[in-house]
Amino acid sequence: MSLSPESKPRAPHIVIVGGGIAGLAAAHRLEELSREREQPLRFTLLEASDRLGGVIETEQRDDFLFELGPDSFISEKPWALALCRRLGLEPELLGTNDAHRSTFVVHKGKLEPLPQGFMLLAPTQFGPLVRSRIFSWPGKLRMALDLVLPRAKEQNDESLGSFVRRRLGREALERIAQPLIGGIYTADPDQLSLAATMPRFLHMEREHRSVIYALWRAARRSPQTTRDTSGARWSLFVTLQTGMQRLVSTLTERLTSGTLRQQCPATSVRYQPAGSDETRWTVDCADGSNFHADGLVLATPAFAAAQLVHRFDHALSQHLSGIPYSSTATVNMAYRRDQIPHPLNGFGFVVPRVEQRSILAGTFSSVKYTGRAPSDHALLRTFVGGALQAELFERDDAEIRALVRSELHQLLGIEAEPLLTRIARYPQSMPQYRVGHLQLVDEIEKQAAEHPGLALAGNAYRGVGLADCVRSGEAAAEEVFAQRVAKPL
Ligand SMILES: Cc1cc2nc3c(=O)[nH]c(=O)nc-3n(C[C@H](O)[C@H](O)[C@H](O)COP(=O)(O)OP(=O)(O)OC[C@H]3O[C@@H](n4cnc5c(N)ncnc54)[C@H](O)[C@@H]3O)c2cc1C
Repeated sequence: MSLSPESKPRAPHIVIVGGGIAGLAAAHRLEELSREREQPLRFTLLEASDRLGGVIETEQRDDFLFELGPDSFISEKPWALALCRRLGLEPELLGTNDAHRSTFVVHKGKLEPLPQGFMLLAPTQFGPLVRSRIFSWPGKLRMALDLVLPRAKEQNDESLGSFVRRRLGREALERIAQPLIGGIYTADPDQLSLAATMPRFLHMEREHRSVIYALWRAARRSPQTTRDTSGARWSLFVTLQTGMQRLVSTLTERLTSGTLRQQCPATSVRYQPAGSDETRWTVDCADGSNFHADGLVLATPAFAAAQLVHRFDHALSQHLSGIPYSSTATVNMAYRRDQIPHPLNGFGFVVPRVEQRSILAGTFSSVKYTGRAPSDHALLRTFVGGALQAELFERDDAEIRALVRSELHQLLGIEAEPLLTRIARYPQSMPQYRVGHLQLVDEIEKQAAEHPGLALAGNAYRGVGLADCVRSGEAAAEEVFAQRVAKPL
């Protein structure tokens, strides 16, 4: 079956493969560009599964709102927030509940508050650091040594683990940087590229030598940044009142000039470089259908894109296969408030690997955002698996449930059975930005640029958060639009 749009008066046709946030943002941006520039186009979005949104999934059960995937996005990076505004979702945005802004770190089996003023890797205030029970005295002194240590010789890339050990010492790595930053990427800090994940710390060392001094200076210049790096209007993390799925449903409602095809996994891509103006793509799907296109956005995980391009560009396929992934499960558990002895006076906790526990982190979801549970109840969400505990992801649901219950018993004192439990699995969902990742992505982009009308999008490349994925989808749309749709000047 051929579904080429070419029987109609010829409007360029773009195929987008992958219906996660990156693919949806690409489709939306294409429509915006078509409207703004008054240049008709059509698109077809192919999604392998039976639903759109990728890892974004919200479920309403009884009066609880379960976020199975992402629960929020960062407002400091503008792209997701800007998209919400353009979609008219601003009145539905919800900031964090600032009455309980703190985060806990598990230390010797107990939840200890992250010292006030601690900025991901390093302290900006010495009083709270000195009083904190998370670090030993030698550990605190070692951290302070950052103030006098010389800068390292410039190198291409370095792991987060190596950088933090070198500047702030082992305890800062094991007790804070690994669970906080490694946790975002569910990654091993000794493999995680600092340049690809936290380049600001690299720049701090290059410019100011000391990370602590640089953070302290930034905090003095803009006191807001130590409390809330998002600026005035929104808290650092923002969600939607009815959950992140609302962004997906609004996007899909708005997409009018295209076709959204679910349960339509693309199996391969063919490329006919007939001549620069007639270059055409054909995307084959598992059900035997195929789609001809003038432009192509691959918004799948890198390993899926690698399979798709294998037939026409072996080198690109190899590079794409070089990005490994880790798997994570989330476990939402609902309780009556009186079943939880802990005051839940924070947004949640992270668990350093050295604590040797079975969960990576926990969020007090109903404290962090309002409307997640009835007032006399609480909703907790924990994370299991990741690169460092891959074997736990493989356990069956009953085992994961038992592991999480045991951890919540030991850490929060909860003995009761949860009223509701929802376990969601995201296999191979989190790309691992290993040392050298940015060079690999440069190679991938250079190789992809050999094929006019092809663009890659998604969390595999230059940021895993929703804001970065929106940017990546929109940038891919702009690239393909400029190459295959825009009128020549
Ligand atoms: C559990 C979890 C919690 C997270 N929490 C947060 C958070 O709170 N805040 C935040 O900013 N980020 C968070 N992230 C990260 C962020 O949600 C993701 O990086 C982002 O949503 C990925 O979007 P994407 O479109 O790149 O990929 P995906 O969401 O993975 O979408 C890719 C899509 O491509 C489809 N696909 C694959 N192969 C094919 C094929 N051959 N043909 C057609 N379709 C195909 C897949 O079915 C999928 O729908 C979290 C991630 C996870 C897993």
